[in-house]
Amino acid sequence: MTLLQTSAATVPDQLEDPACPICQSERRALPFRLSETYCVARCLECEVHYLYPRLVESAMQLVYREPSYYQGGESGYADTSYIGQEPALRATFKRFVRNLAKRGLCGGDLLEVGCGYGYLLDEARSFFRHRAGTEFSPQGGEIARGTGAEVWVGGVEQLPADGSFDCVIATQVIEHVYDPLPFLRRLFSHTKSGGHIILATPDIGGALRKFMGRSWPSFKVPEHVVYFDFSSLAALMQQAGLREVRRLPYPHAFPLRLIAAKFGLTLPSSLGGLNVWVPATTVAAYGKVFHD
Ligand SMILES: [Zn+2]
Repeated sequence: MTLLQTSAATVPDQLEDPACPICQSERRALPFRLSETYCVARCLECEVHYLYPRLVESAMQLVYREPSYYQGGESGYADTSYIGQEPALRATFKRFVRNLAKRGLCGGDLLEVGCGYGYLLDEARSFFRHRAGTEFSPQGGEIARGTGAEVWVGGVEQLPADGSFDCVIATQVIEHVYDPLPFLRRLFSHTKSGGHIILATPDIGGALRKFMGRSWPSFKVPEHVVYFDFSSLAALMQQAGLREVRRLPYPHAFPLRLIAAKFGLTLPSSLGGLNVWVPATTVAAYGKVFHD
């Protein structure tokens, strides 16, 4: 991402100054300066946070199609890549799916939007009748298919027009979406009446963000373009037509070696593989769909 940041900074026509991506207001504060180029703005109307300026969407899409998007951790350490985090991600998703099951959200047909390498789809195997996903990266999609799930390469517009699911999950996705409300309405149209949509995203209102300030690892430039806390996430979900919106616990596991790397430490490999549970990184919520 470092290279891209440089090129974005030197190619001004790849940058745009967006209005609030939720309510279109131009009234904003700029509470976080992340780099010479980028700030995170707070909308003074609806309180959502968003990247300002941001890369134009066509330039961002090219980055997601690069195989290196998943391979390179931002620090350049091999074990901070997506694959390096596999055990921690699997542990996170295993617990997440159990939390869904406890609330009666499993069974039936599952769709995961932005399924990556299919770790969640795999952990959800015994909880759903049928599993499907979408994924922008063709390589990611191919690996996710290996879990036995049906996978469409691309965004939600790749779903078959009559595709309809009982449970639609998008975890660590909405913060990448340039226009979240139409995106969520599209998910709504692909969810059966009585089914649920579940969103999880970095929590800008969480204790970790408050503790770390601008060094919060989820301030990811240029790909995270919108940031939520529970209140702004629930408001978005209600605006899209979801009812009975509730918070869902989402403890996130991280490899100890990744956390150590953030502090410039190297651990013996026997310790580095341990997972550390961090409770306050991610906000998750679910809501119910009714088609009248
Ligand atoms: Zn707004």
